[in-house]
Parts: sequence; C-alpha cells; structure tokens
Amino acid sequence: MKTYNEVKLAQELIRFPSVKTEDKGIMKFLSRRLSAIGFKCTIIKSKGTGPKPALNLYARFGKSKPHINFLGHTDVVANLNNWKISPFKAVVKNGYLNGRGSQDMKGGIACWISAVSNFIKNNKFNGSISIIITADEETTGLGAPAIMKYLRKKGEKIDFSVVGEPSSNKSVGDEIRIGRRGSMNGIVTIYGKSGHSAFAGTYINPCTALAKIIAKLKSSSLDNGTKFMPPSNLEFTKMNVDNLSENVIPQSASAKFNIRFNSKHKSASLKKKLNKIINAVAKKEKCKTRIEYRVSGEAFYTQPNKEIYMVKKIVKKITGNSAKLNCRGGTSDSRFLGSIPRLELGLRNTTIHMVDERSPISDLKKLTKIYYNILENYF
Ligand SMILES: [Zn+2]
Repeated sequence: MKTYNEVKLAQELIRFPSVKTEDKGIMKFLSRRLSAIGFKCTIIKSKGTGPKPALNLYARFGKSKPHINFLGHTDVVANLNNWKISPFKAVVKNGYLNGRGSQDMKGGIACWISAVSNFIKNNKFNGSISIIITADEETTGLGAPAIMKYLRKKGEKIDFSVVGEPSSNKSVGDEIRIGRRGSMNGIVTIYGKSGHSAFAGTYINPCTALAKIIAKLKSSSLDNGTKFMPPSNLEFTKMNVDNLSENVIPQSASAKFNIRFNSKHKSASLKKKLNKIINAVAKKEKCKTRIEYRVSGEAFYTQPNKEIYMVKKIVKKITGNSAKLNCRGGTSDSRFLGSIPRLELGLRNTTIHMVDERSPISDLKKLTKIYYNILENYF
C-alpha cells in the first residue's frame, strides 16, 4: 500500500494555481492519489466564480461506522504580486515550505492525507474515513452545501469531523476552534405620516419612532454569553432619513444594523424577538414598519465531547500545548456541516492570505503526527 509524504504532497498541491474556483486539474490529481489508497471518490459540481463549474470532492474509505471526516478546501486567494519566491513553485528553503496555500490550506490537506495513508497501511480497523474538499471556500461557498446535499441523498452519516483550517497561532495546536458566532444584517424602515412641522397633531414623525426603536434595541440584553462565546451584540451601522426640507416631517426613516450572535440563538428565533421589540415601539408611535434580514451564517458550536477532549490530549502529548478551545476567527466551510460534531485544527495562520505565505516544515510534521494519533485513538 502506498503512503504519502506530507511535504511532497503539499508541494504537488501548491503547484496547481487553483485561485478562486479554478480547478486546473487538482481534484483529478487528489482523486487519483486517494483512489490509490482505497478511497472511493466522487466529484460534485457547484456554481463557480467563472463560466466553469467549481469541482468539489467527496472521498470515502470503508463502509461501516464509526465515520470520521476531514473537511478542507483547495482554492486559494490571489494577492500574488511582489512575492520573493514564486507563489506556485512550492520551494522548500531554510526549513519553510513557501507558496500560496501552504498554510491556508493545502498544507493541512497534505498532512491529513499523509496521516491517513500511513494509518491505513499500518492498521486494520472497523469504520470509515471520509474527506470533503471544496473548491470555493474563499469565494462563493456553494461547494460545501452541494456536498452536504449529496450526502443527505445518499444517506451518508458522518459521526465526527476535523476541519483542517489553519486554527493555530503561535505554535501548532495552541488553539482549537469548536464553533463560530453567527452574523445577520437587518434594515428597519419606519413609516409615519408626513406633514408641515408647524402643525403638530396632523403628522406622525417616523424619526421619533426610529430613535426610540434604536434606544430600545440597544438597551435590550439578548443573552449573557456562553462559556466559549461573548454575549450577542447588535450594532446600528447606518441611519437614513431622506428629507431635503426643514419644515417637512418625512414620510419614512430607516436604519441598518449588524448582529453577531452566539449559539444561544438561531437567526429565525432572533428575527422574531427583534421584530417583536421593533413593532411594539412602532405601534405605540402609530407607525408602520418593514423589517428585512440577510443571514450571513448561523452560530454553531460543538459541546466539548469525548472526541474533542481526546484531540486536546493528543495535542498536549505531541506539542506540549494546552490547546485553548475557542470560537475565534473568520467563517469557514465548517458552518455548512449542520449538526455534525466537529472541531477545527490545522496549521498556523501567521501568513494566510499574505504575500510570501509559508509554513515551517516542522509544523507540517507535527500536524501529520497529531492527525495520525487522532485516527489511531478514534478507531
Ligand atoms: Zn482556509
């Protein structure tokens, strides 16, 4: 049985210039590598940033339970000018692997596949290992939902997922993500009755109602936070009254807000709660309202379970780090995994999206060892 070296595989992956949702042959390459060690590979298309579809990969080894999964993405961000070493040459120099995607996150993918190849070679086990690789994590984010839809259709059930995004900061394994806050934007428009400002009683001023609504929303506590997430917070980001006259009461007034919410809320129940507050104030002021929302992402969180503590122990053993469990960082495809228990653990994020992205070779070695130990302890 074949095994793969993490550094060599990472180099091979970096050499595909898979910017935005451009494939350039990388999914075929990965499918070949994974098929050679016994994975069954399926390419799942989703809408790309260009005329061609984005190609995403679902690969599974084994048929039985328990089923551990790895989630990663092969797309990389641009920012390709002024590099000291060409971003797609994947040069190893002075103990570093240089190149776009070395940390975010072709390096992490290579570590997982290397660990899996060695694990499969050395062990007989009951259960399944699957790998989800998306092609649009940095852009459209349609690949992961397309794969999840495919898995639901096929009745595939994942028991635990390791997301390989670069979660580490000062050293590999110092931070492990176990969730992320949700984000939602809203626009509230208040309709009153316009009129001459000298004739009180003949008009209904929507500005008054809007000001009271803002004050009420800002003074209403949404929650006290959770152990791993701060209290949910709503901020107004824009207020607008379209009015050019000094003696005219306007017909309407509007305001925009953004809300970052923790796992105590779902966007749907949060909308209901906010609507209730807004409409109650508006009613008192005899105004009508229109409230619109756009949800960027739901909050999610995996209650630290035995797998998470197992990983924490492995990280301690291999790196000496007492990993901090937290919910920091930007969004990732992890938000599409629904109720699957999961964590994010990958390389360091010190140079991600920057010019001269690079990863210490020693980090790649450490992460591969951690991933190998996760597989060994999981089965
Ligand atoms: Zn990433």
